[in-house]
Amino acid sequence: MLGAGITGCSTALFMARQGYDVTLFDQAPQPFQGSSGWNDGKLHLGYLYAADPGLGTARQLLTGGLLFKDIVEELLGGSIAGATAPRDEIFLLHRDSVVQQPAVDAYVRRVSDLVRSHPDAGRYWDDAARRGAQPLTAAELAAIAHGGDAILGGWRLPERSVSSRWIARRYIAALAAEPRVEQRLGQRVQAVRPVDATDGLDGPFRVETEAGADGPFTIVVNALWEGRSVIDLGVGLGPAPELTHRYRYALFIHTAQPVAQDNALIGTGPFGDVKAYGDRDFYLSWYPAGLVVEGQDPAPPPLPDLDAAARQALAGRILDGLAEHLPAVRRVADGAAQVELQGSWVVAQGRGPLHDPSAGLHRRDRFGIRRTGRYVSVDSGKFSTAPWMAREVAAMFRGG
Ligand SMILES: Cc1cc2nc3c(=O)[nH]c(=O)nc-3n(C[C@H](O)[C@H](O)[C@H](O)COP(=O)(O)OP(=O)(O)OC[C@H]3O[C@@H](n4cnc5c(N)ncnc54)[C@H](O)[C@@H]3O)c2cc1C
Repeated sequence: MLGAGITGCSTALFMARQGYDVTLFDQAPQPFQGSSGWNDGKLHLGYLYAADPGLGTARQLLTGGLLFKDIVEELLGGSIAGATAPRDEIFLLHRDSVVQQPAVDAYVRRVSDLVRSHPDAGRYWDDAARRGAQPLTAAELAAIAHGGDAILGGWRLPERSVSSRWIARRYIAALAAEPRVEQRLGQRVQAVRPVDATDGLDGPFRVETEAGADGPFTIVVNALWEGRSVIDLGVGLGPAPELTHRYRYALFIHTAQPVAQDNALIGTGPFGDVKAYGDRDFYLSWYPAGLVVEGQDPAPPPLPDLDAAARQALAGRILDGLAEHLPAVRRVADGAAQVELQGSWVVAQGRGPLHDPSAGLHRRDRFGIRRTGRYVSVDSGKFSTAPWMAREVAAMFRGG
C-alpha cells in the first residue's frame, strides 16, 4: 500500500481484515501527515459545485459523502460523533462568484432533490440530508456576513464536516492495533517494478525507496495523491490524466475558551471558509492568500521555502482575507491558545484558474480507481469520498 492518507489507511484496514498481510509505505514519520491530516473535512453532498450545473460532480460526490460516517465508524470500531461539527453549514455567495445567484438557487434546489432521493440519504447525520437546503433570510445573512456588500446571498446547507485532526488520531490508533498491517514510515517511494519484467502489471512487484527494494508484493495499491501519476507512469500505467497540483495553507486554531462561531463557506470560486468543530477547534482558510504554488506536471512543483516571518505574514493574510467578509472570525483568532499554519496538496483533474467559469477545476467528477492486473491506482478525489473508494478497492480483491 503506497500512501498513508485516508485512502491508503482505509484500504490497508479493509485488506487486512480480508486476511491480507499489508505493508504500508509513506514518506512521513506518521500516517495522515499529508492532505488527509490537514483539511477541513467537509463531507460533500455536492452543493458547492454550482459551476457544474449538469450535476455530474454532485452525483459523483454524493455516495461517498453519505456513506463516510458508516464506513469510517466500521473501520475505527466506534462513533465519530466527537469529530463532527454539530451545526449546519452556511454557503455564502460572493459578488465575484463564477455563478450568479438565480443559477445557484436553482442548483441548490436540484441538489436537495438529488440528495433526498438517494437510497443512502438516511445514513448521513441525524437525517440532515433529507432536510435539504434553505435560503437565508436577509436578517440571518446580515448577522453572519456584515463585512460590506461583497456577500450577495446565502443558504443553510445540510452538509456536515469532521475534524481531520480527530479522524487522524483515531486512524493512527486503529492501524497500530491491526497486526496484519506493517508500517514502513519515513520511506519515500521512488518506483514500483515487476519482479520479472515479463509479468508486467500482473505482478509480483518490488517497491523501491531510498532504503532499497522491498517485496515481493502480490498486489500494489498506489494511493500517493501528489505525484501518484509519476509512479503509475514508471510501472507502465499511462497515460497520466490532466492534473493540477495546488499547495494550500490554512489555519488550525484551538482556543483557550469556547467561541460561538458559525460554519460558513464563501464561494463559488477562489474564496474561503471557517469551520467550528465544537466550540474550541477551528479551521480558517482564505484561498487567494493560502495558495502558494500550482503546477500541471505529473510531479508536484517544488514548494517555496517559507521562513518564520513569511509564515507569520501568510497567516495574517489568511485571517485578514476571511475577516474582511466574516468579521466574527477575529474572535477565534483573538482567543487562540494554539495556532498552526499547515499546508497540503489539492490534486484534481482539470486545469484553469478558479475565477474562470469555464475552468475544468470547477468539475470534480473525474476521479476514481484505475486497475490493470494486480496494480491499482486510486484518485480518491476528496477526503469525503476516500473511505468509499477504499472499500471498492478492497472489494476487488475479496476472496484472493
Ligand atoms: C486545504 C485543503 C482543504 C481540503 N478540504 C477538503 C474538504 O473539506 N473535504 C474533502 O472531502 N476534501 C478536502 N480536501 C481534499 C482532501 O484533503 C484530499 O482529497 C484527501 O485527503 C486525499 O486523501 P489521500 O489519502 O488520497 O491522500 P493524502 O492524504 O495526501 O495521502 C497520501 C500520502 O502519500 C504520501 N506520499 C506522497 N508521495 C509519496 C512518495 N513518493 N513516497 C511515500 N509517500 C508519499 C504522503 O505523505 C501522504 O501521507 C482538502 C484539501 C486541502 C489541501
